[in-house]
Amino acid sequence: MSIVIAGSVAIDNVKTPTETQNGLLGGSASYAALAASIFCKPAHIVGIVGHDFPKEHLDMLAARGVSLDGIEHSPQESFTWTGEYFNDMNTRTTHKVGINVLENWLPKVPEAVRSAAKVAVLANMSPDNQLQTLEQCTGAEFIAADTMDLWIEIANERLHEVLKKIDLLVINDGEAKEFAGTTNLITAGRRLQEKGPRYVVVKRGEHGSYLFGPGAQDFFSCSAYPLPSVFDPTGAGDSFLGGLAGWLAANGKSKPTFDDLKTAVVHGSVTASFTCEAFSTRRLQSVTADDVAARIAELKNYTSFA
Ligand code: AMP
Repeated sequence: MSIVIAGSVAIDNVKTPTETQNGLLGGSASYAALAASIFCKPAHIVGIVGHDFPKEHLDMLAARGVSLDGIEHSPQESFTWTGEYFNDMNTRTTHKVGINVLENWLPKVPEAVRSAAKVAVLANMSPDNQLQTLEQCTGAEFIAADTMDLWIEIANERLHEVLKKIDLLVINDGEAKEFAGTTNLITAGRRLQEKGPRYVVVKRGEHGSYLFGPGAQDFFSCSAYPLPSVFDPTGAGDSFLGGLAGWLAANGKSKPTFDDLKTAVVHGSVTASFTCEAFSTRRLQSVTADDVAARIAELKNYTSFA
């Protein structure tokens, strides 16, 4: 089953309490497509890069099974993001965003992918870009989307339009509370479902994630894989989404049951744990489906009891 992933393809500059690294591969679509490709090849990425985008980043994505047919090349500068993490690695500040190529971008899903992709991922980008992508995904049977505080604040109405058209929203805890107007996460998840998506996943960083399904009893609490050290959590959320959707596509689950979604969430969560282990995509880009399966087996052991 084919999968398409649209979003940002970025040059990131990341500072942690111990290290600063510049010119890194970043972007919501880069992480999500790379994560999806662990399970489902090719993973069709849709994005735009500028003249300054390092070729080695694109070569790496292609080598991992990400199809670059949907990557547009612009004479402008690439989208850039500069951020800093503080002591506990949970607090992040964005220092600078260079919108550049994303300013007037109109996503173009390759003709051959439009009807073929049964699973569509709208990774973090403007709700306008998410809706433009969606219009072209004529064959999509399962649509998953991510968003961020910026769009909740400046494009709230358009984001509500997105929510009416998707099956799954994946959002982090702080943003879920802000969007739903409550400080209670369970209420937030349920309120977000009322805005459209049958399924909502609330990511809670190192504390795991909550999955909400259509039935009153459809609730699943997924633990995060316990990592002893976190080097760079950038892209963990995007990797979660990509891993989750890639697992669905690889297993032909474009009309998943709640139990399918639970398994997909576990795969997304464990996939994201690898992303945190090195800067940028450096750990994620060598992860195999067997690596994920081994961590899932461990996690099962850590979280089940008689
Ligand atoms: P995450 O850590 O999962 O929130 O994702 C971080 C990635 O999102 C970075 O690699 C950034 O390049 C990318 N990013 C940051 N801000 C934006 C934005 N406004 N639109 C699209 N992508 C963004």
